[in-house]
Amino acid sequence: MITLLNNSLNYLHPPAPTLSIVSSSTAPLILRVAFIGRKTVFNLSALSLPQLQLCHRHCSHNYNKLRRCHNKRHENRVSIHTASRPGADTTTKKSERVNRFLQNFDRNSMASANNNLEKNGNCEESTDNICLNKGVGGQDGMDRFYFLIDIGANLTNKKFSRDVDSVVQRAKEAGVLKIMVTGTNILVSKEALRLTRLFPDTLFATAGIHPHDAKTFDETSIQEIESLCSNPEVVALGEIGLDFNRNFSPPEVQLEVFEKQVQLACRIKMPVFLHERDAHEEMINVLMKYQDKLPPSVLHCFTGTVSQAKAYVDLGLYIGLTGYVWKDKSEDGVRKMLMDNVIPLDRLLIETDCPFMYPNFRSAKLTPEMKQVLTQRSLNYLNRNCTFQRNEPCSLPATLEMISALMKKNPEEVAMATTYNAVKIFGLSS
Ligand SMILES: [Zn+2]
Repeated sequence: MITLLNNSLNYLHPPAPTLSIVSSSTAPLILRVAFIGRKTVFNLSALSLPQLQLCHRHCSHNYNKLRRCHNKRHENRVSIHTASRPGADTTTKKSERVNRFLQNFDRNSMASANNNLEKNGNCEESTDNICLNKGVGGQDGMDRFYFLIDIGANLTNKKFSRDVDSVVQRAKEAGVLKIMVTGTNILVSKEALRLTRLFPDTLFATAGIHPHDAKTFDETSIQEIESLCSNPEVVALGEIGLDFNRNFSPPEVQLEVFEKQVQLACRIKMPVFLHERDAHEEMINVLMKYQDKLPPSVLHCFTGTVSQAKAYVDLGLYIGLTGYVWKDKSEDGVRKMLMDNVIPLDRLLIETDCPFMYPNFRSAKLTPEMKQVLTQRSLNYLNRNCTFQRNEPCSLPATLEMISALMKKNPEEVAMATTYNAVKIFGLSS
């Protein structure tokens, strides 16, 4: 997780927000994102997080200085690496590694950093928290900056073929620091993998055969997917699943291809990126069979009912939400699910599913709370870069804000939880 944040910040053009992560063995995990002149503290104790004791111990207003500091004087205080092949790395193994690291951690330094931060608050005066230049700062929510991970973006779509580099750059500027590019068949999965090589440590990929493409599955497919999954950039097997809404492949073929891929995921211990439309019961039936062996997996772009969401959560799945929340007006759909807190924060992930699922912030369907929470900063990215024809990862902060409004939670809290969840499941560190 720390690698994620450090590396991410290096990619940001200044001005970047300041950041520090502090916790102690007895206190719950505390994550602080400090902006110049302003400090925000998130208590993530409600989440089932491994106990981390981490501390960035130097204040610098320039990220080059910060890197120097980390590379020399404090390097072993901040370097935690997740697995080189995240998909194969179970949460337990990761926690073990983190715990091993923590045993060697300088606890006294951390405690003093914690105290100083409490006393000083202001990053410019403190010498004990990380400080990366000036925050975004300003009016109308311009000081809000989230670290987000888009777990589902169809960047191989031809709508992105001319300017994918600008799309990725804009995403990073908007705070979307990691993006998982969705693979939907062998060819697209290979293309997704190729894209990750162009944007190392920012783009990651999934590999698998979408239910629409189930009819393309042949005797070589499983081998091909397995070989794609052996690349460290491929962090999930997907998208796979069932789509009985459009039936582009016959349902019985979809079922067979889906189950074979689930079996593969269990065998190679790869998280699964699931797609389901109008096939809830059939999907539950397949997943129940593999419940004990299936690695942590996400039901992406969830658009079902409250009871379906409950069933997926009970099965241990994470739920991926998109900009779809703007148009859901059903009595027991995604909005109701969020308002009733059916999905615990530690099971929530966010994604754009771009170029689809444009979050239409102008819609009369938005509740006053959803409209109120949208910051000028998020709206600027939407207005300038996204349309119904082509949504982009930089719209994710707006979606996050709308989701947070429905959950009646602080957007920063939801941002940190979803980012943490994504790192926990997929690794996302090269
Ligand atoms: Zn899908």
